[in-house]
Amino acid sequence: MTRVRTPSTGDEIAWVAHHLGHLVCDDVTASTRFRGTQQMADERLADLDIVGYARRRNEVLPVSGRGASGLSPWIRHGMLTLPAVWARVADAPERDRAKFRDELLWQEYARHVYARLGGRTGDDLRHRPAGTVAATTEPPESVGDPWDRSMACMDATVGELERDGWLVNQTRMWLASQWSVRHGADWRSGEQRFFTHLVDGSRAANRLGWQWTVGTATGRPYGFGRWQVERRAPGLCDRCEHRRACPIEHRPADPALRPAPAEPLLGHDPDVAATAGPDRVDVTADATADVTGSATGSATGSDTSSSVEAVWITAESLGDGDPASSAHPDTPVVFVFDEPLLARLRLSAKRLVFIAERLAEMERDVEVHLGDPVDVLQGRRLATTFAPVPKWRRMMPRLDIVELHPWPWLRRPGAGTIRSFSAWRRSWEPG
Ligand SMILES: Cc1cc2nc3c(=O)[nH]c(=O)nc-3n(C[C@H](O)[C@H](O)[C@H](O)COP(=O)(O)OP(=O)(O)OC[C@H]3O[C@@H](n4cnc5c(N)ncnc54)[C@H](O)[C@@H]3O)c2cc1C
Repeated sequence: MTRVRTPSTGDEIAWVAHHLGHLVCDDVTASTRFRGTQQMADERLADLDIVGYARRRNEVLPVSGRGASGLSPWIRHGMLTLPAVWARVADAPERDRAKFRDELLWQEYARHVYARLGGRTGDDLRHRPAGTVAATTEPPESVGDPWDRSMACMDATVGELERDGWLVNQTRMWLASQWSVRHGADWRSGEQRFFTHLVDGSRAANRLGWQWTVGTATGRPYGFGRWQVERRAPGLCDRCEHRRACPIEHRPADPALRPAPAEPLLGHDPDVAATAGPDRVDVTADATADVTGSATGSATGSDTSSSVEAVWITAESLGDGDPASSAHPDTPVVFVFDEPLLARLRLSAKRLVFIAERLAEMERDVEVHLGDPVDVLQGRRLATTFAPVPKWRRMMPRLDIVELHPWPWLRRPGAGTIRSFSAWRRSWEPG
């Protein structure tokens, strides 16, 4: 494990190339669209105008006709919280506001599912292909590359994914459907391809998006065909070499699905407290003992400021408003690039540059390390914010967390069903 120099504004690309270049899958560049700064996140939120969102959310081309907000990279990294984005659209026209808030709820739902199921979100949720499809990291050779870039629709969308690290929801569905529904390749390998490149890549939303599109979540696969391209990206087919013999002229046949083995956690959460994290600042008795001179048992809400040595921030909690960071503005923050994990994932450098941009921007003492977070953080008394991700939960008991701050949920998870978005929503929505 190594402590590395903190990146500074303007040198993030060189910094990533030097310190993390051995962990990425591509040339080190920044996303052409997204800077990982709180400043840009705040500006985009301040400028957010969702008039026409309900009508234009699914538009793909021309780019100027898109209704999507493009906020997802900052939401993913905790630089914009869902409650803040929700509040920002309070005065928008009713139909647009309702549609936009619905999408924020999808994000929240994905987080609830991931927080409860963890790695099991990589299993087929409720349905599985009837044939035997091996869960591989690459599609079988017989399939070739399901995203044939001689097709204009594939070239435009895969190009955007690799260049910008981002796609609108509609083209995420096109690519996922093309991968699995039409070509029968395992959705997990496609999900991994997305995760490698998306600047907003999150296992929560990405896995749910794939499972929803290919039908393993709902039993109803989304079939991608030429008509969607003509409707959502008019003119694109005109410049395609396959325009007279389009391989996706017709909707693909729905793959045969059968029920997946029952997953009891979909119906009920036996340990909501573990899934949701604390609902107020949780201070360990140990930490309180240091401050007050006597151990007081559960000490939720006590003052531990003097015993906190560092604030641990993660890829989920990079925002200015992160609860633990804001509670300790004069304490150093520590960020650890998880070297073993990154070596396994081989992400696009765009994501790491995005994070480096944020670390460079912070106007406080920032320590950056490369290594296994548990080794790096050993023996330090930490304040941190709960993160609804399984890896974080596995690390937490092995660290000396003396102050744990609540995650800023939009809706706090409950014990009820997460079988489908609508059932989940009904379980907490009045009436
Ligand atoms: C196959 C597939 C993979 C996906 N992978 C990811 C991913 O890795 N990370 C990710 O954040 N989203 C993912 N999504 C969801 C969605 O496509 C993106 O959140 C959205 O396109 C981001 O663009 P935007 O910020 O302009 O969204 P907008 O339409 O402006 O919506 C505002 C916010 O609502 C949330 N949101 C919108 N649509 C969805 C949705 N369908 N599911 C969950 N949240 C949503 C996002 O936080 C988004 O930033 C995926 C969807 C599919 C179909």
